[in-house]
Amino acid sequence: MPALLKPSEIVRRLNEHVIGQEEAKRTLAVAIYAHFRRMETTAVDTVELTKSNILLIGPTGTGKTLLCETLARILDVPFVTADATSLAQTQFVGDEIEAILHRLLDRANDDLARAQRGIVFVDEVDKLKAVGGQERATSGESVQHALLKIMEGAPVRLKDGRHIDTTHILFICGGAFVGLDKILTKTHTFGFISTGGGDDQRILERLNARVKPTDLLEFGLIPEFAGRLPIVTRLHALTEEMLVRILTEPKNAIFRQFQAMLAADGVDLRVAPTVFRQMAELAIEYKAGARSLRGIFEEMMTDVMYAVPDHPDIKQVQIDSLFEPPRLFKAAPPTA
Ligand code: ADP
Repeated sequence: MPALLKPSEIVRRLNEHVIGQEEAKRTLAVAIYAHFRRMETTAVDTVELTKSNILLIGPTGTGKTLLCETLARILDVPFVTADATSLAQTQFVGDEIEAILHRLLDRANDDLARAQRGIVFVDEVDKLKAVGGQERATSGESVQHALLKIMEGAPVRLKDGRHIDTTHILFICGGAFVGLDKILTKTHTFGFISTGGGDDQRILERLNARVKPTDLLEFGLIPEFAGRLPIVTRLHALTEEMLVRILTEPKNAIFRQFQAMLAADGVDLRVAPTVFRQMAELAIEYKAGARSLRGIFEEMMTDVMYAVPDHPDIKQVQIDSLFEPPRLFKAAPPTA
């Protein structure tokens, strides 16, 4: 475990991989700092610090999983993701949960102590809301109960007879929570502050955008489960500008990956800024956040990736539009 990272340092490192979502980054960084502080405080301390798990609310493909996975990498702790929907599809929730913890142990190279400080991201917890009449192997509510138990901290028996203690495992839950905003507008309580300055307005907006435990209950989470997720933060839909940045800026941005792949074949890949904008526009149409960007990029590159290995004389690829074939040059074209 590296030395305790300060929240600002965590945010700085997250920025290298995740575009935007500033609020979520700061909240996560502070929560993580507190979480690891808590682990360091021992029996000598008189105040017992309880664990705060985290809920990330935001549309699909906006970086929830990416944030958690990057965080785990920065902290050098094992990380697994699980899907609440598939937990609700099995009759044996206990077995599934055991399997999740087993995967965490695998990621920790079978080091139990290391696994017990890991991070588990449970996506789609919003699908666990109690809805009547739906055919399911296990009700969303009982999955919430099962998750609650391990989130609180409990020894879970693994198949090989060992026990994994979940007390210090950090659980981050995620979900799109479609419809939550309607509940928020209905229940918001702050509206009568005089708002002369822009700052007041901003404070007011922040207070009203805050998700309260009661909102989560109204959405369909059980009180005990919502109560175990005291830290709630939101991720926002990605704008066209953010999608363009995602294509090019992060350390392992898709564009950089293709550039590196072609460079290995001695080819210089050049993509005009218009192309990134066209891709972002398409991704917005597909409504899957940044998730569709890779597919769009791959499709554009297929012909190039097919041709290059057969033609070692190609030295440069120039793409000017998503809707025009890439231009292949045998040597750098003469500069105009
Ligand atoms: P979800 O919010 O559904 O968990 P993911 O984190 O799995 O979304 O994002 C899907 C993919 O889209 C990621 O692998 C990443 O490449 C890209 N992506 C999504 N949001 C961002 C972001 N804010 N910054 C950089 N890349 C992102």
